Amino acid sequence: MLLADTKRILLKLSGEVLMGDQQFGIDTDFVAKLAGEVKAAKETGLEICLVIGGGNIFRGMAGAAKGMDRAQADYMGMLATVMNALAMQSALEKLGVETRVQSAIQMDQVCEPVIRRRAERHLEKGRVVIFAAGVGAPYFTTDSGAALRAAEMGCDALFKGTSVDGVYNADPKKDASATRYDTIDYDTVLAENLKVMDASAVALCRDNDIPIVVFSIRERGNLARVLAGDGIQTIVRTGANRSAS
Ligand code: UDP
Repeated sequence: MLLADTKRILLKLSGEVLMGDQQFGIDTDFVAKLAGEVKAAKETGLEICLVIGGGNIFRGMAGAAKGMDRAQADYMGMLATVMNALAMQSALEKLGVETRVQSAIQMDQVCEPVIRRRAERHLEKGRVVIFAAGVGAPYFTTDSGAALRAAEMGCDALFKGTSVDGVYNADPKKDASATRYDTIDYDTVLAENLKVMDASAVALCRDNDIPIVVFSIRERGNLARVLAGDGIQTIVRTGANRSAS
């Protein structure tokens, strides 16, 4: 086990991983593969809260850059996360994993509202709870939503599955000499503005002592490997001396 005594995790998936190899939108085959990863993690006995981004469909900042009102564009981004949550729900249920979607923007015909005690009960019953619409307010991201739900639901760690395998000192897609950290502390991430999650999410995790594990969700079986301590990842936590491999 990567982190001792981990019983409940929050898994955050960037919207862009739902695109698979497409340039936009939802690749249902790839979502089915992701659902398989979640199922395998659940079968290890973990309780799982899921948060999925919306960047594969719409990001508020992109809309604002094209002249849209920022708050309005952010609402569209939040709606995109609900679409992704429904796609993941469908894929998980096809694999026999029971789920509930709870949205921070109330949408009674489609899913439940966020109710912590109800989510708690779902987890006790072995359901995966997918939290949609981030924190439910514009000017935030789903990273902040993930940190908030991780704190609210008492998760032992926040696993961020994305398209890079950890935190680097420079962008590995642009700089071939970039090195990946195995561990690093929250304050260094914030002071050096390293690309992990946005600052409000990192600060919320720091203040609530929730380790952040950044790993790639693109390779098959990687979530299980990382959870078992056999994978490649960066752990952001208090007092971690910066170490790179
Ligand atoms: N968003 C928001 N408030 C939130 C969460 C999300 O306004 O609490 C909007 C914001 O516009 C963001 C978009 O939803 O750009 C999609 O989320 P995000 O960019 O976090 O998705 P990811 O990068 O993880 O795919």
